Parts: sequence; structure tokens; C-alpha cells
Amino acid sequence: MTKKPFITKAQAEEIISRFPTPFHIYDEKAIRENARKLYQAFSWNKGFREYFAVKATPNPTILKILRQEGCGTDCSSYSELLMSKKCGFKNPEIMFSSNDTPLEEFRYANEIGAIINLDDITHIEALEKACGIPETICCRYNPGGKFSISTTIMDNPGDAKYGMTKPQIIEAYRILKSKGAKKFGIHAFLASNTVSNEYYPTLAKILFELAVEIKKEADVDISFINLSGGVGVPYTPDKEPNDILVIGEGVHKAFDEILVPAGLGDVSIYTELGRFMLAPYGHLVTTAIHEKHTHKEYIGVDACAVNLMRPAMYGAYHHITVLGKEDAPCDHTYDITGSLCENNDKFAIDRKLPEIEMGDILVIHDTGAHGFAMGYNYNGKLKSAELLLREDGSVTEIRRAETVEDYFATLDNFWDVID
Ligand SMILES: *Cc1c(COP(=O)(O)O)cnc(C)c1O
Repeated sequence: MTKKPFITKAQAEEIISRFPTPFHIYDEKAIRENARKLYQAFSWNKGFREYFAVKATPNPTILKILRQEGCGTDCSSYSELLMSKKCGFKNPEIMFSSNDTPLEEFRYANEIGAIINLDDITHIEALEKACGIPETICCRYNPGGKFSISTTIMDNPGDAKYGMTKPQIIEAYRILKSKGAKKFGIHAFLASNTVSNEYYPTLAKILFELAVEIKKEADVDISFINLSGGVGVPYTPDKEPNDILVIGEGVHKAFDEILVPAGLGDVSIYTELGRFMLAPYGHLVTTAIHEKHTHKEYIGVDACAVNLMRPAMYGAYHHITVLGKEDAPCDHTYDITGSLCENNDKFAIDRKLPEIEMGDILVIHDTGAHGFAMGYNYNGKLKSAELLLREDGSVTEIRRAETVEDYFATLDNFWDVID
């Protein structure tokens, strides 16, 4: 498979004449189509809802598009809750899946009607102190050990800070029930960026069996099961993307095998996807501004790790297309670098690409989730604009680029200093 950008060179040039690079651009049509496909995959479940993980792409325009497609939001901070509220999300469209949570945030989440998902048994007491125990409550599970699908280890929940052990979570439901809670959910996030149609079905089976055990041990009927995030995307062109329809069917099968016979056929399935909802539908667009021929061949671009941290932070692969050279042979080997004084500020290392000339426009793929959102201001670099390619082909700015005024805004009297 090859990765094809959703904008052409001519389109990019027209956009750049209005909005200089670097910028992130999102594809509204593809975002909507993907969201509809997710809902189709889970249409067998009456109460299904996707709570989009705001942290992946915290932009109000994106959140409103997803809201029109029936999604809620998943938050884990005050700002994310506030953004959700401002975008019109209401009870029961907001999930608060936080950890290490300040009491004020529990209080605010409760005030705006978010469903609170407790990360730890000690948070029952914290929540009670903050705002009392709400009628609807969810608990986060961590089975420990390694999470495998057949013989492949997918992730290591035993090392993860999240969730409660099995004895703790059963005890938590008993306590919550005794304190007046009436509607209960289970949540777990056991593996990240899985490119496998087996992740959700395997996780679902674990959580469905847990729901049956909770019913027996704590005399609590689970109303919803939140499979959380973790359904991934293929960042490299050689991988096959997940098939959400196959995934939905896999969960359906486990549901019919485990929950229905236990009298739990009314359970609603929730998801909390971030990456799967947005990553492929965003590009970071940047211009080649320098070439350097030393011990290696370098192409310097006008974006840097501040605009996309994943390569620097995790050594993550992001595919790169040189616009207008989609069909040219990849007969050059480059490091594609940003300008930070950090040698890990490289979008690609030893990447085979067509010959790059100064002024060429590069599309860095799959930046729609955990891209702009992870941005920072190291070296005094400013965050880029975010643009939206609308369904009618027009382009709207949905967040302007930062200015130095933004950068210095938290310093009192900065502009008064005499220079
Ligand atoms: C990050 C996160 C998600 C979304 O994860 P993706 O990998 O983007 O799908 C969902 N739920 C919680 C609690 C998270 O922390």
C-alpha cells in the first residue's frame, strides 16, 4: 500500500498563498466517513457511543464535527471538560477518564454531568469529599501481567499506572453501591496503537467476563462497558489498516457468547478512540528550506518537533510525500530535520525519497491525532495553525498560528522592558 495525501500540490500551493507553512490540515469528509463506519460497526448495540479522546485533537471545530456524527468526548483535565462543555456536549456525552485527579476536577466534571471513571479505589473517598457519589459511575480495570493476542505480546498492563486490580474493582463496586450509585460501568485500556482486528474483541471478552463476575460477587448490574482507545492506524505504508466492521463483529460475537446468556444483554458498548478517529485524516504540511551535505544528506524544513513530537519522542515513523513527486523514484536518502537545537528533531532518518529541491512542499502523514496536540514551545518555537479541508473543498482556518505575543503572554510587563 502506498500513502496518498488528501491534497494535491496545486491545492497545497493555493492554501499556502493564504496560510504559510507549517500547518496541520484535517480532512472533514474522511473524518465523517470514518465516524459513520464506526457507528455502523457497532449498530448491533443499542446504546453504543464513541467518546472521542479530546487529548488527541483538542480543537472545537473537530469536536463539533464529531458531535454531529453522534460522538461524545472523553476528557482527563479541566480544560478538556471546559472545551467539551463549550462545544455543546452535555450529560451523558462527556466521559471523564482521568487519573491522579485533583478534587476540583472531580467537582467540575460532576457539575457538568460528565460520567466519572474512577482510576483507583482510593478515589471513591476523594470523589465523595469533592462532590458526593453520583448515580452513574465507572471504574477502570487493570488485570496486570502482559496483554497478549494469541502469542503476540501487545502491551504491558502490569507496568501501567492506570486502573484497579480485580479484588479492588469488585470491592469498589460494592462500596459505590452502598453509597448510593445506581448505574455502573467498566473501563480498561490495555494496549496502545494496535493494528490488529483482534484487540477490541480480546479486550471485550476480558471485560464481559469481568462484568459477569462483578454481578455475582458484588451484586451489581453493569450498564456500560467502555473499551476505551487503542485501536490504531498503520503509520507505515506496508501495514494493512484495521477493519472496524470486522472489529465490531468480533465484539458482537463475544457479547452474544458471554453477556447475553448472563442476562446482561442490555449493556451499552462505549469506545474512547482518539488515534483511530483522526490520525490518518491530518497532515503536517511543511516546506523544504535548507539542504545540507555533510556526513549525511539533510533536508531542513520549516516545521520542527514542536509541531509533531512523535518522531523525536518515540522514534515514531511518519510517512512523507513530496508533493508533485508522488510518482518519482525514491532514489535519494535523507534525514528530514527541524530547527530545534536537539539532534532528535528529525521527522525521518535515512528515508528514501525523491530528490528534494528547496521550496518543495512535504506532507507528513497521519498527524491528525497526537500531532498538534502534543506541541510545545521549546527553543521559543511557536505552534502552527490548524486548517480544515471542508467537504466542499474550501479551506478554513480552525486555529490561528501562535504569535510571539502569545508566547510572552504569561510574563507580566514583558513589553514594558526598555531595550
Ligand atoms: C489516550 C486515551 C484514549 C485514546 O487513545 P487512542 O490511542 O488515541 O485511541 C482513550 N482513553 C483514555 C483514557 C486515554 O488516556
